[in-house]
Amino acid sequence: MLELLPLCTGPITGGRVHAGALDTRESMLNLVPLILQGQARLIPAFSIQSRFTPRRRIFMASDSGPTTHKFQAEVSQVLSLVINSLYSNKDVFLRELISNAADALDKLRFRAIQEPTLLAAGHAPKIRLIPDEKAGTLTIWDNGVGMSSEALTKDLGTVARSGSKALIEELKQAQKAHDLKLVGQFGVGFYSGYLVADQIEVVSRAAGSSEAWKWSSDGKDSFTVEPTSRDEVGTSVILHLKQEQADYAREWRIRELVTRYSDFISHPIELCVKRTDKDGKEEERYEAINQASALWMRSEKELSDEQYEEFYKHLTHDFEAPLGRTHFQVEGTQMFTGLLYLPKHPPFELGNPTFKHGVRLYVRRVFIMDDCEELLPKWLRFVRGVIDSDDLPLNVSRELLQDSAIVRTIKKQVIKRVLDLLAKIAQDRPADYLEFWEKFGAVLKEGLHFDASYVDKIAPLLRYESSTEPGFVSLADYKKRMPEAQPAIYYALGASKALLSASPHLEALKARGHEVLYMTHGIDQWAIEGLREFDGKPLVDAMQEQSEADADQSEAGKQKEEKTTHPELAQLLARCKEVLSDQVGDVRVSERLTDSPVCLVVPKGGIPAHIERLIRSHQQDLPEQKRILELNPTHPIVQQMKAEEARQHDSALLSEWIELLYDQALLVEGSPLPDPARFAKRVTALMQSAKV
Ligand code: ADP
Ligand code: MG
Repeated sequence: MLELLPLCTGPITGGRVHAGALDTRESMLNLVPLILQGQARLIPAFSIQSRFTPRRRIFMASDSGPTTHKFQAEVSQVLSLVINSLYSNKDVFLRELISNAADALDKLRFRAIQEPTLLAAGHAPKIRLIPDEKAGTLTIWDNGVGMSSEALTKDLGTVARSGSKALIEELKQAQKAHDLKLVGQFGVGFYSGYLVADQIEVVSRAAGSSEAWKWSSDGKDSFTVEPTSRDEVGTSVILHLKQEQADYAREWRIRELVTRYSDFISHPIELCVKRTDKDGKEEERYEAINQASALWMRSEKELSDEQYEEFYKHLTHDFEAPLGRTHFQVEGTQMFTGLLYLPKHPPFELGNPTFKHGVRLYVRRVFIMDDCEELLPKWLRFVRGVIDSDDLPLNVSRELLQDSAIVRTIKKQVIKRVLDLLAKIAQDRPADYLEFWEKFGAVLKEGLHFDASYVDKIAPLLRYESSTEPGFVSLADYKKRMPEAQPAIYYALGASKALLSASPHLEALKARGHEVLYMTHGIDQWAIEGLREFDGKPLVDAMQEQSEADADQSEAGKQKEEKTTHPELAQLLARCKEVLSDQVGDVRVSERLTDSPVCLVVPKGGIPAHIERLIRSHQQDLPEQKRILELNPTHPIVQQMKAEEARQHDSALLSEWIELLYDQALLVEGSPLPDPARFAKRVTALMQSAKV
């Protein structure tokens, strides 16, 4: 195999020498030793197929011919999936490849802002589709940023994008569930070419370079990269169509697909059409077949739901339609356009704090960057879309974005639009909203903690499970059905609804007919701190020390407070404190219990038990927090204990009971027992002593 040396200007390095045109004396001299050693030979330019101006060129016998690389393991996984046609819809390959070409044009335009020399004179960015029915090929051509041989190897040989990673993740899940249909819906980018082709060649020349490279593979487990030539910077993806997919080389088929999937691409897509004229001469010309205008710049009236949906899929590689969208133009001191979408399901990394988020930023239709996080707070990291600003400079950097007044104004608008959209969905499509809430609610709740200025707008969007209603309720609905005398909105933090609904802490509230909201997500503890009241009613933690008395300012509440001192129990309380001195900070009479004898409460400002468990389970150092044991003064067991205490102040039996009750309090709230064996022994002993 012969290798073409590129227009060499720099020194020739490394073991492999690349072929191409030889245009300087130095580079020629560099090669002399190779020629002398018989490793290279000079041949005249006209003997090769090349459109380079005729010049002396060098060809050399290469040591190894094209270099063969193995695909990264994940790629092979994705490929075998694709090739085994999990895709129900093969058409998507064209959307993926056109989208890559469009990205490449955007990238070149962006890089040329800093380096204008990258653009050849008269460079007109475009994508060309060149079908060849006879040869059974379809070529997707672009004059974008191109790829070097390293980029070809890396970008087309490894799984770099989250879409494909998600696919593998999903695949692992799906293999368990035997639900491969779902997997077939994923966008897998470049590899989707193998849906219709059994061989793909990618010929590419990177911007700023004169070398061109050919990547080729049958999509099984390896690919080769070898030098080649290309007139212009950019990339051609040549699909050798499978026999049964030959239709994709037909004009009408391509037109149809472009109209359906890629009409909104903001660059011209040209189709190479062949016509025979009157004299039987075949002529070739290029015909623009898309609208080639940025979709977000068109007016809402002009666009169909379908077009919006396709654009969303183009932008996100999501296979499902979005849950909702908002499209707006802001005019005034600052002008910008936004098209924002809410996805239906979260990307699998959403929970990860380093999850890349943000919207795509354009400045006057020029692509600037993906994932522009400066335009969105973290707690809206599920929002996708496009912002196009008229006011930002084209060469904005991340640093500039960070303290730009323009960006701050845009961000404010973006937040407002998204929250308005959510409010509208919550009102018009409550079932859809609940679906959103279950998937993204935890992220939205972060806003309560991080962005005090939006608490009022977030609060109506919150949904929680509750002690009285099935499903999720809003704070507004809670308040609507609240008895008039109820002084506060009550909530309880815990690991699950089941655990909370059995919690002794809520007994008195429930007995009084007060609804309690169950907050079962880890974030709730922090989030709820940000929401002190809703519509004039304070939010009160039902599990914290004296929450009842704090909130209950009604007459009944005040009377109750007077009753809460139980002098007759003073001795027993003292004894409990003594026995449990290592475990609890205090022992008190409770007002919140009706059926259970005891419960543990968190001192004011303390960490709730389930959060404490959560943190400890992550091995984080947490200072010991002593809680408060509350006794139910009316419970028969407490009465019995009082009697026992009166009989014998240091009764050993009483100590046992006190410890047993403490363990019980831990059990009901879902905390681990410090010594389960001892607990079991105590219970057994009690059972033995009981008369049957
Ligand atoms: P994605 O587009 O999501 O990054 P793809 O699998 O579609 O994933 O493409 C992988 C990578 O290959 C791209 O990120 C890009 O770097 C490179 N690439 C693909 N097609 C082209 C092209 N026509 N021009 C330049 N680079 C390309
Ligand atoms: Mg892509």
